[in-house]
Amino acid sequence: MSIKINVPFSQKDEAKQKGAIWMNDAKTWVIPDYIENIDPFDRWLPGDGFIVKDPYLICKSSRQCWKCQKETPLIALAARTYYTCDLASEINLKWQKIKYPAFFIGIRYMDPILLPLLKEKYPFYREMPAKKTGILTWVNTCRYCQTIQGDDYNTNNSGSPFGGYQNEKKTLFRGKNMEQIQLRFDYYIDGVVFEGIYYWDGFSEAE
Ligand SMILES: [Zn+2]
Repeated sequence: MSIKINVPFSQKDEAKQKGAIWMNDAKTWVIPDYIENIDPFDRWLPGDGFIVKDPYLICKSSRQCWKCQKETPLIALAARTYYTCDLASEINLKWQKIKYPAFFIGIRYMDPILLPLLKEKYPFYREMPAKKTGILTWVNTCRYCQTIQGDDYNTNNSGSPFGGYQNEKKTLFRGKNMEQIQLRFDYYIDGVVFEGIYYWDGFSEAE
């Protein structure tokens, strides 16, 4: 899918010259899929986060709530292909296209394109103020007692629900626990990425 960009009317000719396309039905400019280098469009992107390309995936898992002890669902947004920002490099492009699987936690900016789906299907996954900083962050909460289920436990060891391929139950990336969603455009998020070859086998299983 193409990437939506926010081009002021006064800059429309410049955007067009760089290869952006106006989609009349959606009333937006987009970077078409065949353009790999999106750096020329940087100033019209929402910020320095991640842009997730098709297929849009949701990893599903569950855990025992640390407070009420009931089994409660968890999700994380996932990608096979996405753009990330390389802010330090003076040699590489700023927006690097990454073509191996990853999932995202600690999201502080969620593309509005995802909000209706999250609200309807995964209401336990929501925006809450972080304990220490008060910054609004997307977290999994217990379906029964609404307590935040911390991502440290969810992701950081092989026995945890998002522990990836080494997880004995392989709960995260099994096909039945990987949902593909349909969106009109690629989406933008700001958060933390978990990536690497470690997760690849699990993504293969999902095919
Ligand atoms: Zn609970």
